[in-house]
Amino acid sequence: MKKALFLDRDGVLNRERGDYTYTVEGFEVLPDVAEALKLALGKGYLLVVISNQGGIAKGIFSQERVEQLHTLMADQLATSGVHFDEIYYCGHHVQAGKCLCRKPGSLMLEKALARFSIDASQSVMIGDNQRDVDAAAKVGVKGFLIEPNSGILNLVEKLQ
Ligand SMILES: [Mg+2]
Ligand SMILES: [Zn+2]
Repeated sequence: MKKALFLDRDGVLNRERGDYTYTVEGFEVLPDVAEALKLALGKGYLLVVISNQGGIAKGIFSQERVEQLHTLMADQLATSGVHFDEIYYCGHHVQAGKCLCRKPGSLMLEKALARFSIDASQSVMIGDNQRDVDAAAKVGVKGFLIEPNSGILNLVEKLQ
């Protein structure tokens, strides 16, 4: 079985800018992310993004915009030889009805675990919000909570 590094998006991979990050101009991949993800790949981790994008349900931005930002992020990281195995996001929001995917729900994680035959006990989730580690805990994935925009390199260096 494989192991995975699950990553929240905003505040972990790209700079968190207040409530929502959705403009192309405002989308900035954090400085050490490419190096950190390369290191994780070298350690044998699959790279899976697990992101809440409730702004879609609230009508603040479109699903197309989210996809556009993900393409931007993927293209930028590809120049460093980094590729995500999948980017899962939940576009729902509690204000518009409940779903099972929005973190702290664990459906996105469950999908990834099943699809890629991932061993949860060997896997790790990095997030900057308690709901990120709560979602991971539900499926037996060890969660690490970081300060928003503080970088993940130090943490990834310590992973086995
Ligand atoms: Mg976040
Ligand atoms: Zn959802």
